[in-house]
Amino acid sequence: MPWPNSADDPVFEMIAREEKRQNSTLQLIASENFASPAVMAATGSVLTNKYSEGYPYKRYYGGNMVIDEVEDEARRRVCVLFGAAHANVQPHAGAIANMGVYQAVLQPGDTVLGMSLDHGGHLTHGSPVNFSGRQYRFVSYGVTASDERIDLDDMAAKAHAEKPKLIVAGATAYPRIINPQPLRELADEVGALLMFDAAHIAGLIAGGVHPNPMPYVDFLTFTTHKTLRGPRGGCILCTAEHSAAVDKAMFPGIQGGPLENTIAAKAVAFAEAATPQFQDYAAAIVANSAALAAALSAHGFRLVSGGSDNHLLLIDLRTFDADLTGKEAQAVLDEAGISLNKNTIPDDLRSPFVTSGVRIGTPAVTTQGMGVAEMETIADLIVRALRGRGDHSAIASVKAAVVELCDRFRPYPELGV
Ligand SMILES: *Cc1c(COP(=O)(O)O)cnc(C)c1O
Repeated sequence: MPWPNSADDPVFEMIAREEKRQNSTLQLIASENFASPAVMAATGSVLTNKYSEGYPYKRYYGGNMVIDEVEDEARRRVCVLFGAAHANVQPHAGAIANMGVYQAVLQPGDTVLGMSLDHGGHLTHGSPVNFSGRQYRFVSYGVTASDERIDLDDMAAKAHAEKPKLIVAGATAYPRIINPQPLRELADEVGALLMFDAAHIAGLIAGGVHPNPMPYVDFLTFTTHKTLRGPRGGCILCTAEHSAAVDKAMFPGIQGGPLENTIAAKAVAFAEAATPQFQDYAAAIVANSAALAAALSAHGFRLVSGGSDNHLLLIDLRTFDADLTGKEAQAVLDEAGISLNKNTIPDDLRSPFVTSGVRIGTPAVTTQGMGVAEMETIADLIVRALRGRGDHSAIASVKAAVVELCDRFRPYPELGV
């Protein structure tokens, strides 16, 4: 039977326009990146056709001889990359990886200590609108008012008072290194399990520019599409002790058939992340973030915690312009071809839909090959756009400069787009 002719399906025209948008605007969203052509090839492969419920060599359906090899290879590679005893590479996303750990070791109503959303934590760390906050009793810790770094004293006081079954470390908007060692000590003091959610920083860990939490934790969860630069997906690493519970939680507990095309792409990304070139990449992400922080700070923005030692910065807009909200900054910059997101700053007086801050990340522009000089250019472009808000010709001139900059750093020159 002939395939339907989808060549003139408008969806492909939309994909082409998105390709153009990614090529001609700046991607400064801290959780985004450009996956390699090899990662995309695996994602788009015939492995999408296969049902493989279960785990390698223990499947519910036949025909999984090759799939078993693929998933086993992905597990092996990621265990070597992070020094883990066991890996589950099936979670469809970072949120589902976290759900898998919770389901493996918690009962509904159990107490968990997690970072609050408005201080940089993730929705899955106990937000009341998320399954995590609805099913479990989360107690939140945050950053200090003085240096805006994780408040270990407050965390310890809460851990001793509340005796959580699990402590969740990791963040989605925190510009500093998170040292896993004191967290392990605290978990041991109160008899808690320790999970580190490295969704944002997995690539920095693999690249050797952030301490590896694996030796200290019971569970390490992460996304494969942020700094790790693989396909959109999640992963759980754990000690041997918890391997059976984690696997059972993911399947049959939460998911049905795994996305083996994505798992093949994860395997490709794990191999890419194990190379010396990836170490250079991770170091360049951090150098670029520090350069962008310095340049924006020189323009009058206040950096939450005073700077950045990872891949992202949190900008407090109020010192630059007290009337400028994160929402408006995001809209103006979008118009100028600069893509980033509004973000609350610690103890923000504005709502999460308005905010007083923006979050900026360097993983994607670093993949494109931009360096410290371009970070200064980007800071100038951001300032020009924000100062020129309301003035359409000023915004148009920034947009033209953005297009010119992006033209020099095409993410996929080999694809000819
Ligand atoms: C992005 C993120 C997640 C969720 O990942 P998804 O793939 O979007 O579900 C979980 N935890 C943290 C800390 C994150 O930053």
